[in-house]
Amino acid sequence: MLIYAIETFKAAAEQYEQLGEAVGSYASTLDTAGFIFHKGRMEYQDDSQQTHYVGGVLCHPDALQDSLAHTSISELRLQIDSLVCSPPMVQRYDYGIPQEPGYCTHDTWQSVTVCLRNPWLPASPIRCNECGGFVALYRLNLSEAVRSELRGWAMDYEGIYPFWSLSGDYESWAAKELFDVNSGLNQCGLAAAAAMAKETGWDVSYSLETDLDETIDNGGFEVHLRCPKCGGPFRRIDDPPWNAHCPRCRIVTLQPDEEGDGSA
Ligand SMILES: [Zn+2]
Ligand SMILES: [Zn+2]
Repeated sequence: MLIYAIETFKAAAEQYEQLGEAVGSYASTLDTAGFIFHKGRMEYQDDSQQTHYVGGVLCHPDALQDSLAHTSISELRLQIDSLVCSPPMVQRYDYGIPQEPGYCTHDTWQSVTVCLRNPWLPASPIRCNECGGFVALYRLNLSEAVRSELRGWAMDYEGIYPFWSLSGDYESWAAKELFDVNSGLNQCGLAAAAAMAKETGWDVSYSLETDLDETIDNGGFEVHLRCPKCGGPFRRIDDPPWNAHCPRCRIVTLQPDEEGDGSA
């Protein structure tokens, strides 16, 4: 279960506008530094109550507490404290997505997967291979370069996916980007995963999307019985949400099973 948090900031007399600016910077820094997910981030205000609100799905249950150790955020919080009339309030709600995993609460990692399976939902691009949960990017101690590579890829993915799923004019272009291992999008994702593996020394896999409807109904966008990158055989794994793995290219994917229903 993920957590949606709403923070409430009520302005001291004459400080409403200035507070709004500080809260806006605070919200966008929480997002770019990876404490709340980009998807679902909300900022709103109530003029009659002189109050600003920030809402977002936390990247980890302790994300708001942990964010205070971030230099820009702690500075913004000091500024906000000087502009409010009462201590900010936090409300937390369950953000239930039953079919999705919750948070990874491990503190160390050896094996992770770079993956975004449903870009409509808030989700970290990193999944822990031990528990299957989402790993908050800010907890990984990655360099700024690798973090922004992962973030850039995730935002491209979120941008391209709707063109495919809404089946409009750009559907076939988007399908190629999503499902062809040599597309710009997948090359960026593979490069980000490789950069992360190099920096951490961990086993970092990349999740290659498969268009299961196409593969089953039409005989194939491409049924990847072999790894599309190296041509070697996929190894079957019993590790939902994936069932095929190329250890050489560190690609995982979901393939139709022998009955062809694609469920893993
Ligand atoms: Zn974990
Ligand atoms: Zn391969």
